[in-house]
Amino acid sequence: MHKYITRIKKLIYGEIAIIFIIILIIFITIFYNYKNNIKYVNYQKNYDNIINEIISKNNYNSTNTSYTIINQKYINIIDKTNLMPLNTLIKINNQNININDLLLKDKIEDFNNLLAKETLKKYPEFISTVILNENNRSYEITEDKITVYFSNENIIPTFNERISIDLTCSDIKNIINYNCNEVKYLEDLNQASSVPHLNKIVAITFDDGPNLKYTNEVVDILEKNKANGTFFVIGNKLTYQYKSILLNCLAKNNEIGSHTYSHKVLTKLSLDKLKNEQEFTNNNYFELTKNKITLTRPPYGKINNLVKNNINTPIIMWNVDPLDWKYKDAQKIFDNVINNVKDGSIILLHDAYKTSVEALRLILPKLYTMGYQVTTVSDLAAKKGVTLENNKVYYSFN
Ligand code: ZN
Repeated sequence: MHKYITRIKKLIYGEIAIIFIIILIIFITIFYNYKNNIKYVNYQKNYDNIINEIISKNNYNSTNTSYTIINQKYINIIDKTNLMPLNTLIKINNQNININDLLLKDKIEDFNNLLAKETLKKYPEFISTVILNENNRSYEITEDKITVYFSNENIIPTFNERISIDLTCSDIKNIINYNCNEVKYLEDLNQASSVPHLNKIVAITFDDGPNLKYTNEVVDILEKNKANGTFFVIGNKLTYQYKSILLNCLAKNNEIGSHTYSHKVLTKLSLDKLKNEQEFTNNNYFELTKNKITLTRPPYGKINNLVKNNINTPIIMWNVDPLDWKYKDAQKIFDNVINNVKDGSIILLHDAYKTSVEALRLILPKLYTMGYQVTTVSDLAAKKGVTLENNKVYYSFN
C-alpha cells in the first residue's frame, strides 16, 4: 500500500515539475517579447532624436529635409535644398552605413550595372559618362524606389539641373536586402523624354547628303546626344553604296526628305523637269529603303508659286542658318546657331563638311543644357500641334 502511495506521489511531483517548466517557458516568452517591445518602442521614440541630431550635425536645412524608415532596419535622411541633395543613411541603431549595406551579398556589381544602364538611357553621353565616374552620390530611398542623385560639377557645358536616376522596386527587388513596394509607373521614369528641363524643342536638318564620310558620324553624334534629325538627301546620290547609310539613319529614328534629284534652282526649271526632280528622287529612295519621301527642301531655298504648287509634299525651309558651308569654322557655326535658336526653330546644317560635324558635337550638348529637345521636322511639327500639308511652306514652328 505504502509503495503505491509513493508511486502516486512521484507521478504528482512529475506533473508539477512539467507544469512548472511550462509556466517557466510561458514567462520567458512573455518576458522576451516584452523586452523586444520595449526596445521597439524606444527606437520609435528615438527616431526624432536621432534624426534631429543628424540634421543639426550636418547643417541640413530642416524645412527641405525628409526621412524614411525602411523595414524598421534603416533610416534615410535627405536634404534637397541644393541640386545635389545631402544624404545620411544609418542603421536603426544609429550606425552610419552606405548603399552596399542595403544590398544582398555580392550584388553591388548588379546595382552598378543597372544604374549605368538607366543613366545611359536617360542622359546624353556628355552627362552620363561624367556622372558614372562620380563617386559623389546621394540616395533618396522610399518604399517604391531608390533615386540616385549625382553632382553636376564636372559636366561641360554647365548643366544647372538636378541629375537623378530612379531605380524602381521591380528593378532592384532581387538585389536589395529589404522589402519594397512594386508600383506601376505610367511612364518609364528614366526615359530621356521624362527629363523635366527639356521644355523647348527644335528641329535640326542636314542637307546635301548622303555623305560616305560624314552621314554615319552625324547619326552617331545625334544618338549620343539623345537627338534626332531630318536629312534632306540629293536624289542622284541615292545609289546602292549609300543604302546602309540611309537604313542606319532611319533605324536610329531620324527622318529623310528630298533635296531634289540634281540640286538645281527649281524656279528656273520647266514643269516637266520640276516633276522629274521629284519623281526620280522618289524612285531611287524607294528602291533603297522601301519608304516614301514625305518632305522636300528646295535647293538654296528657292521657290515660286509654280514650284510651290507642284511639290506634292510639305516644303521645309529653315530659320536658323549658320552658313556652315561658307565659314567652315566649328566655333563660328556653333555661335551662329546658339545665338539665333528659339523654341520651334528649324536649324540648317550640311552633313558634308568636317567643320559642320565638329560644330554639331558642340551644338547638341549646349542645346540640351539650354533646355532644348532636338528632333526631326515631322516630330517638331507634331509636338507643336501643326499638321503638315502638301504644297505648303514651313520656316519654323515658333
Ligand atoms: Zn543644298
